[in-house]
Parts: sequence; C-alpha cells; structure tokens
Amino acid sequence: MYLILFGPPGAGKGTYAKMLSEWFNIPVIATGDMLRDAIDKETPLGKKVRNYVQNGKLVPDDLMERVVAQELDSDDADDGVIFDGFPRNVNQAEMLGQLLRNKNRKIELVIELNTDDEEIIRRLSNRRVCPKCGEIYNLKNHPPQNNNMCDVCGTEIVQREDDKPETIKYRLKVYREQTAPLLQYYRNQPVEYIQLNTSGQLDDGIQRLKQKLEEIDISSI
Ligand code: ADP
Ligand code: ZN
Repeated sequence: MYLILFGPPGAGKGTYAKMLSEWFNIPVIATGDMLRDAIDKETPLGKKVRNYVQNGKLVPDDLMERVVAQELDSDDADDGVIFDGFPRNVNQAEMLGQLLRNKNRKIELVIELNTDDEEIIRRLSNRRVCPKCGEIYNLKNHPPQNNNMCDVCGTEIVQREDDKPETIKYRLKVYREQTAPLLQYYRNQPVEYIQLNTSGQLDDGIQRLKQKLEEIDISSI
C-alpha cells in the first residue's frame, strides 16, 4: 500500500510513520530525515539543500523529485511505502502521481494529522533528536532517562536548527500556504482519506487511528 502522511510540523508524522511502517511492514520515505542526513554527511545533495532546510524553506521541487524517484526505484519500495513529508505542495503531488503511474502503482490512502497551533509550538520547542540514530524526544513528555543522552545509542541529543522559535513560525506559514492546499487536492482524488487529531495523548491517537483503519477496511485496498 502506498500511503501519504500529511500534516503540519509537530503533528507527529515521524512517530506515526514509524508505527504504520511496523503495522503494514512497508518502508518509510521521510524526506526531511533524508535531507538532514545528507546535510550531516556533507554530500553534494546536502550542500545544495542546507540553507533551505535550516531556514524552514521548501527545497526546490526538481531536487526533491530526484531524491524520491531514486528511493522508489529500490526493491524495498515495491510493495508499498509510507511517505512522510512528501509531497509538500501540489506540484510535488503531481510528480509523485506520475512516478507511481510509471510503476503501475498509486496512492491509496492519505492520513491527515492535525494539531492545534499552540500544541505544535509547544512540541517543536521541546523536541530534541538524537543526531546519530534519529530517535525523537520531548523534554516535557518524553525525556531521555539519562540526562540528555539518547536511550537507544547514548549520543547527546540536540535541538534541530529549524526548531528554533522564529523558524517554527516560518515553517507553519509555509505549511499553510503551500502544503495545506494538498488537502483539497487529495479530496478530489480517488483515495481513502483519514483525518486524525493528534493534539492529545499519543496512546489515544493510536487507538483512534486503529479504529479508523478498521472502518475503511484497509485489507481490501
Ligand atoms: P517538519 O514536518 O517537522 O517541518 P521535515 O523533517 O518533514 O519536518 O522537513 C524538514 C525540512 O526539510 C523542511 O522544512 C524543508 O526544508 C525540507 N523538506 C522536507 N521534505 C521536503 C519536501 N518534500 N519538499 C521540499 N522541502 C522538504
Ligand atoms: Zn540515538
């Protein structure tokens, strides 16, 4: 199954992507993670995208298309993919549709996560990540056991450059202006559509998502 996770920064896309990946046993293509990884490793792609990512601006579509096309060419992507952070605008959605059509595949499910703005700002400003293994923490709700060290690999956790207050506001603006129109776009497409409010507790959101997936009978798509 090819599925898109869609929602503002801080809505929990990364967390839900990981979970859905285990449920459906399909890989995640998380473009934000891929770009950050390229930046850390100072690859040619990383050098091109660094300024965009750190300032919360969208990376140009042609670069993103190349990144995603390459991932889709991997055998791992044959049985389905969870897209986290892509597409980010209508043009990218068109590109993705075409890339999948070339492989006789299509998007079957779009899951829209939404969260109140206040909660988003709270979450992003408290978010810390492990620069080595990517584990995500929250200083308030989910701090590491051992003072600022990753529970998984022991590396010191850090704040993402784009989780600084000014950049958070800018990312929300980019989301509203460029990404939110995708909502209407996919509502006009023949895909299953699930909306999930993720403002509250994670466990509660997970339960509601399970219910919604059962309602649309995911096994048949
Ligand atoms: P979030 O959803 O928390 O804002 P992501 O990790 O998905 O974070 O993305 C971080 C940054 O990476 C974005 O602000 C943007 O600069 C870049 N990025 C990620 N995915 C895309 C995309 N599909 N198109 C353009 N830029 C992207
Ligand atoms: Zn770690």
